[in-house]
Amino acid sequence: MDQQYYIKLEEELGAHNYNPLDVVLHRGEGVWVWDVEGNKYLDCLAAYSAVNQGHCHPEIMRTLIEQAQNLTLTSRAFRNDQLALFYQEICKLTNSHKVLPMNSGAEAVETVIKAVRKWGYKVKGVPQDQAEVIVCENNFHGRTITIVGFSTDEGSRSGFGPFTPGFKIIPFGNAGALEEAITPNTVAFLVEPIQGEAGVIIPPAGYLREVKTICEKNNVVLVLDEIQTGLGRTGKLLAEQHDGIEADLTLIGKALSGGYYPISAVLSSKEVLGVLRPGEHGSTFGGNPLACAVARTAIKVIVDENMVENSAAMGEYFLSGLSNIKSPHIKEIRGKGLFIAIDIVPEAGGARRYCEKLMAHGLLCKETHENTIRFAPPLIITKEEIDWALERIETVLTT
Ligand SMILES: *Cc1c(COP(=O)(O)O)cnc(C)c1O
Repeated sequence: MDQQYYIKLEEELGAHNYNPLDVVLHRGEGVWVWDVEGNKYLDCLAAYSAVNQGHCHPEIMRTLIEQAQNLTLTSRAFRNDQLALFYQEICKLTNSHKVLPMNSGAEAVETVIKAVRKWGYKVKGVPQDQAEVIVCENNFHGRTITIVGFSTDEGSRSGFGPFTPGFKIIPFGNAGALEEAITPNTVAFLVEPIQGEAGVIIPPAGYLREVKTICEKNNVVLVLDEIQTGLGRTGKLLAEQHDGIEADLTLIGKALSGGYYPISAVLSSKEVLGVLRPGEHGSTFGGNPLACAVARTAIKVIVDENMVENSAAMGEYFLSGLSNIKSPHIKEIRGKGLFIAIDIVPEAGGARRYCEKLMAHGLLCKETHENTIRFAPPLIITKEEIDWALERIETVLTT
């Protein structure tokens, strides 16, 4: 079957809520993927960082198969022997005290909004239904009604109202704006350490440290959405470590799955999660043994195979290689670890065009907004593979 067969079927039968590149993938191994016609590509998106460990990681695969043969789902009506061990291992790794497992990133965000509101009423003493959560312009936290309601991206929110009240939007990277926006009813500040979907937007150095101080001073819960930046992507296990801080609540997802089985989690260093009582929150699949077993191995291989260190070293190598490319189309290059973006000048005809050209040269990337190309390969990428990528990126950007 050629690719056009699948593309035609998909366009005909599926909702058009995505605009994918026209490549139909069939197999993956490490940083490489193959389409149904046998063409090979270097995956420079890694499923938006859900495949940090590389495609079809053999150790995670073994865990998936073994656990699938033992026990896959109990619901939380009963306990299972993977959940507690997942808690223990993720807490030890991230220095957290409590965990609440969910399935998708958006669910982890929804969970945290419920938890901080409840904490506001029970602990901080905010009057009933007056809790405010502060978020940033150009945020991306997922796709539910509540979450898109506090998005500033028209495409994400337009046509989906009415929205959930209780959110205040401030500029990203501006600690003073946070201080000004806080009122006695503010329960939390929800922010990405680096804005991924906005185009790998890196805040000024020390931003998170200032934010942490302001939150502490005002008894506001600091929630870091590390669903994309977490688990090694930026060259640290969690991006907060670049600023030497610990958030009160941290959201992880994507790479926690090892690319195999959806799982997300809210991690708490403060006792905010303690306010949730039986019956107040849950999910049929949240914390299921298959997800927990996969996640345990997904974080184990990140540590065992030094993927965080590799992300830091290879990120620097990739970034310096990109900065050696002389092209009139490049406006800016930025990145931290293997979280890298190139802004194309507006006159160059849009990032999509370059992603399509890169695909023709065997490199899979995805544009974000009009003029940004993001490079976020699996964290196991080698120097030789980056050299291979750089050659093709240079060709595409200079011809
Ligand atoms: C991907 C992402 C989410 C949403 O995760 P889903 O699993 O797609 O619901 C939330 N926040 C950030 C920062 C993300 O990158």
